[in-house]
Amino acid sequence: MPCLKLLGKVLFLSKLSREKIISKLRDIVGKEYVETDSAAIRLYSKEASGLEGVAVAVVFPEKTEEISEIVRFAYENDIKIYPQGSATDLAGATIPEHHGIVISFDRMKKIKEYSIVDSYIIAEAGARVIELNDTLAKEGYMFPVDPASMKAATVGGVIAAGGGGLRGALYGTMREWLMELKVVLPDKDGTIIRVGCRTTKCRQGYDLVRLFAGSEGTLGIVTEATLKITPIPENIVTVAGFFETLEKAMEAVVSIKKARIAPYAMEFIDAKTVEIGKQNLNLDWDVRGNMLIVSVAGPVEVAEKYIKILSDSMEAANASNIMKASSQEEAEKLRIFDLRRACYPSAIQLAAQSMSPDKSKPLVLIEDIAVPPTKLPETVKQLRKLEEKYGLPLAIFGHVGDGNLHPTTWIDATDEEAKKKVWEMFDEIMEIALKMGGTISAEHGIGLHKKKGLEMEMKYKKSEKALELMREIKRIFDPKNILNPGKVI
Ligand SMILES: Cc1cc2nc3c(=O)[nH]c(=O)nc-3n(C[C@H](O)[C@H](O)[C@H](O)COP(=O)(O)OP(=O)(O)OC[C@H]3O[C@@H](n4cnc5c(N)ncnc54)[C@H](O)[C@@H]3O)c2cc1C
Repeated sequence: MPCLKLLGKVLFLSKLSREKIISKLRDIVGKEYVETDSAAIRLYSKEASGLEGVAVAVVFPEKTEEISEIVRFAYENDIKIYPQGSATDLAGATIPEHHGIVISFDRMKKIKEYSIVDSYIIAEAGARVIELNDTLAKEGYMFPVDPASMKAATVGGVIAAGGGGLRGALYGTMREWLMELKVVLPDKDGTIIRVGCRTTKCRQGYDLVRLFAGSEGTLGIVTEATLKITPIPENIVTVAGFFETLEKAMEAVVSIKKARIAPYAMEFIDAKTVEIGKQNLNLDWDVRGNMLIVSVAGPVEVAEKYIKILSDSMEAANASNIMKASSQEEAEKLRIFDLRRACYPSAIQLAAQSMSPDKSKPLVLIEDIAVPPTKLPETVKQLRKLEEKYGLPLAIFGHVGDGNLHPTTWIDATDEEAKKKVWEMFDEIMEIALKMGGTISAEHGIGLHKKKGLEMEMKYKKSEKALELMREIKRIFDPKNILNPGKVI
């Protein structure tokens, strides 16, 4: 498993000097668009997972053609390239591990066009997901993939990460919303291709569009994307309940699903994380237990009917303190989603509070497994045992509608023993997911953190051949291994 120190000791493999590289990059994009200041470079060499690499320079191209030229230059001179959106990645996929050039999309963030009738929006890779929604909201439309990081996360970053979000149970992840991509390939010519179509139906032989989805910047550099859009639901009702046991919460989930309702969001927060969140948010709710939040979209006329189905299902499963909101505004007023939104920040705050600021370095690590929803109670039961076994805190929350859990822990990154223990615990978490018929990563990806996990999963499924195929695909796309090398496979 990579560690911060290890990543500091990197090799610079190009035959060209740093000065020559910088000079060429300046020729391509203009002097002011190549960052060489060491403090600024350091900022672009980190990602949200806590990992850090070292870049030679950060370059800010404005056009796909400039990126193509950078790739041609990098190919010829064996220089590594690292595409970067907002570096909110949590899998160790973004950092410049082996030196090289970070390509930032800060100057490629235009929303170029949208069509309500043809149901698409075209944006450059650096546009933020929230900006798509700001643009579409005035037409009553939205882009439904909603990572919790969407205020920062970029279109290119979410495509490459294969990201999802709270609405995943209804709308799936990024791959379901891709129509057409413009991509620069890491070959001799920095070839620019357009794959996919601007029509909903599209057959182009093998599906290269979805091969780029979740490829974590290892197969091509996405510069522009045409994405599907959907109307904003007329109304959303939300009901939340607190359950003594997870089994009881799951009973409610099953009964809601049997009522033929497709939830817009279905979130779970375990009792311990509820307590942490309440303290962190100063919520004076007199509630305890495992929290289940379910939202359903539909016309205003059916709001009461949906609320009744949801609350009856929760009551039948002995939920206490059921909160009901017949609109999104009401849900906001009741702060129903605040606890869910606060899970990750709460963990960061708790980590900081539990350590001495001058002697330690708090590091929050978030897992990302998925299991079939019926296996959630058993999964959580097994996860709970790990806390005692490894002596590490474990907050458990996630998207119960699609079985995606985010067990989260925190350690002092200067404590080598804790670091060893945490990776052992994460290996065991992934093993549990596989035994439950699940997967080691639902939405955050593989990066550096989960390379071993990916191998574990393929071995578990007796499909090591799939790893070989993936290595071969990488070789075909990136013959000199210059694009985000060492990640995924
Ligand atoms: C607080 C918090 C909450 C989060 N919540 C969620 C969540 O709900 N759901 C979820 O799925 N993820 C979540 N994440 C993880 C992260 O935000 C997502 O993976 C997001 O998709 C990354 O977007 P980014 O623009 O920051 O990409 P980056 O982190 O910059 O890059 C991610 C990957 O994409 C590659 N890449 C970036 N741009 C391009 C490009 N143009 N072409 C090719 N490759 C490129 C990078 O090399 C890297 O491999 C969360 C992270 C944080 C910190």
